[in-house]
Amino acid sequence: MNSKPDINVCKMLKAARLYCTDGRVAVLKALLRADKPLSQDQIAKRLGKKRYNKVTIYRTLGSLSKAGLVHRAFMDKRAWHFELAHNCTETQCHPHFTCTSCGATHCLTQMSLPMAKRPPKGFVVRRQQVHLEGLCPACA
Ligand SMILES: [Zn+2]
Ligand SMILES: [Zn+2]
Ligand SMILES: [Zn+2]
Repeated sequence: MNSKPDINVCKMLKAARLYCTDGRVAVLKALLRADKPLSQDQIAKRLGKKRYNKVTIYRTLGSLSKAGLVHRAFMDKRAWHFELAHNCTETQCHPHFTCTSCGATHCLTQMSLPMAKRPPKGFVVRRQQVHLEGLCPACA
């Protein structure tokens, strides 16, 4: 194992004006390695429950979200799934595709959709997120 991911993750944190703490590094690395959105429980499982408890992970996701490094991608089984924001712009997230047969969700980072136009008066659109359903290549 080399230490390169540590440096990158620490740089990301510092660029977002956050301290490079073990917990933040661990959560960011878990999301980076997963390459797909993870729920809080899935993150906890990947990190090993002994080192970081749920409250720590919850708070870490909170601070990372606030800094714009991580965001909520979609909700599945009543749990928000978080992902790194590096594949998304500030106003638009790539579409997420959930297979109705195997249940796997994929990040369709290559796919782009037009931004929704003319929201009703009084509504301010901050970020567009689209969730698609259907069959993945393995199930189609
Ligand atoms: Zn996104
Ligand atoms: Zn499938
Ligand atoms: Zn995604």
